[in-house]
Amino acid sequence: MKEKLNKHILEIADKYKSKYKRLLKLIDRFDYIAVFRHIRPDFDAFGSQMGMYTWLIDNFKDKHVVFIGEDSTLTPKCFPLPMEVDDSFFTSHEVLAIILDTSGKVRISDDRVKKCKYLVKIDHHPEVDRYGRLQIVDENMSAAGELLANMLIYFTTRGYVISKDCATYLFKSIAGDSNRFLYDSCTAHTFAICEYLMERGVHLSSLYKEMYFEDLSELDVTRYVMDNFKVTEHGVAYYILDKETLKRFNMSADHGKDNINLFDHFNGINIRVSASEDVEKNVWRISIRSSGIAIDKIAEKYHGGGHAQASGAKVKNLEELNKMLKDLDDLLK
Ligand code: AMP
Repeated sequence: MKEKLNKHILEIADKYKSKYKRLLKLIDRFDYIAVFRHIRPDFDAFGSQMGMYTWLIDNFKDKHVVFIGEDSTLTPKCFPLPMEVDDSFFTSHEVLAIILDTSGKVRISDDRVKKCKYLVKIDHHPEVDRYGRLQIVDENMSAAGELLANMLIYFTTRGYVISKDCATYLFKSIAGDSNRFLYDSCTAHTFAICEYLMERGVHLSSLYKEMYFEDLSELDVTRYVMDNFKVTEHGVAYYILDKETLKRFNMSADHGKDNINLFDHFNGINIRVSASEDVEKNVWRISIRSSGIAIDKIAEKYHGGGHAQASGAKVKNLEELNKMLKDLDDLLK
């Protein structure tokens, strides 16, 4: 018997169903499919990518499906290690590329996307460039994985299945990008999707263990951040990890943002910032989080972008960092 879908899920599916059907036709047409995500992947990039990949593997046994992207500190604890894919996959066949959670073409992990015949973008970021011939994009979703889940749930009405593994990846993407359901990006639709995924067997405590448990030594970094963070006049909490500090804790700049959520729940702190010196790229990597006011425009001004309440940026030096902190502080005046 066909399952009756939740009204919030149906409402979104109705909006996009002609695009969803186009994607099904493309999957039917191509025997070779590569699923991509963005560089320096986070939970949503990985979770939506692996959700898409797993769904394809589960439902299309005769297709050649791969997932593409550089390694990350989230593997192998939370997501699989990179798949080794020979260049011939791209040069000897016509490949359909499905790209998750990536607003601009330059942020797609792996240049071999350029060799693909047809690009499909599934995303929830404000548009950076329309690189997909098929674009399934909704900025109101908490995660790319939320939009993807909507589509895959819609496809269950046509007989396709969502396995427990697929549901778990999708749940990770949503929990990750919404900072465990704290942001206003979470809606009735988000929770309807999560209810559906829970019914597919998602196990919360094991999933959160994979996502968030750290080695005890991480507390040394947390202690350093607690001892050294500062707060601007109007409530921007920030901490700086320069190259010496990162070296002392044997950390990469990628991990600089790991303590940004320490300051989530304090009156008087409305924006949180982490700044980590990336010696390889000769920039400071910035993460910005907000409890209310939109910060994405400031992130864009400083060579970045993202969402209203969670964005990333880059600055050249501490002088530029101070300018950015001043701009953020001015937002709170
Ligand atoms: P992060 O602080 O690196 O976790 O990034 C927060 C959010 O902003 C994520 O959704 C990123 O995908 C997005 N983001 C980070 N850097 C950029 C950028 N340069 N352009 C567009 N979006 C970005």
